[in-house]
Amino acid sequence: MDAARSEPYYLPAGDEVALFEQCHRRQLAVMLKGPTGCGKTRFVEFMAWRLGRPLVTISCHDDLTASDLVGRFLVRQDATVWQDGPLTRAVREGALCYLDEVVEARQDTVVVLHPLTDHRRVLPIEKTGELLPAAPGFQLVISYNPGYQRMLKDLKPSTRQRFVALDFTFPPPEREAVIVAHEGGTDAGHARALVELAQRLRALQDRGLAEVPSTRLLVAAARLIASGIEPRSACYSAIVSPLSDEPALLSAMHDLVEATF
Ligand code: ADP
Repeated sequence: MDAARSEPYYLPAGDEVALFEQCHRRQLAVMLKGPTGCGKTRFVEFMAWRLGRPLVTISCHDDLTASDLVGRFLVRQDATVWQDGPLTRAVREGALCYLDEVVEARQDTVVVLHPLTDHRRVLPIEKTGELLPAAPGFQLVISYNPGYQRMLKDLKPSTRQRFVALDFTFPPPEREAVIVAHEGGTDAGHARALVELAQRLRALQDRGLAEVPSTRLLVAAARLIASGIEPRSACYSAIVSPLSDEPALLSAMHDLVEATF
């Protein structure tokens, strides 16, 4: 761990910091529920810093195997050597282990996590026969986006019931504007206008906009504005275009940009 790393900027929405701290103290695994780009990753980075723990982040996808998490034997110059996967490394080091978008991982991969989430706190490494106890400070954190696109893909109850869930949503407008100004390097006026636009665009969800603009997209637009790009153009490129290919929705979003800037 880099002991000298600086404090990640995180603006809390409620009591999530205190809740997480208690979960950490009580060795409870945590699930962060919420849409993409609303601050879950930043929150984990902040908590790892605050708790003084290393952070191991794993982005989940459907090709991720248990061996990718736990480790594998590698052949090196005629010798076979064991190499820890990121989960094993986190268990040994007592790190916070953050599995981003865990629902993307296959079930047989996710079950590897189970013995780490109960009183056993062990990682069975099948290939070496090792039963690795988690070092003090180890904590499992998963993120999960319960959005529309997850209808067919969901976490099994046997997995979800092993986690304390913290709900994340987009921050209230005044807070989101503070975040956008800080992260995007724009003045308060532009930040407020971007958040106002986001709220109008988020209302289009009822008209079929599948993905609504996240705080991340607002930050991207703010950065372009801060670099001297004309605000409308920044909004089209960073917010409108990434969200849809549908002509009717694009045109509705263009109108909202023009009404805001
Ligand atoms: P998620 O993990 O939910 O997809 P991130 O944590 O990556 O989202 O958030 C996207 C970006 O939004 C961050 O990089 C940061 O710039 C900004 N952000 C969102 N919420 C916050 C917050 N509460 N405090 C500070 N920055 C935030």
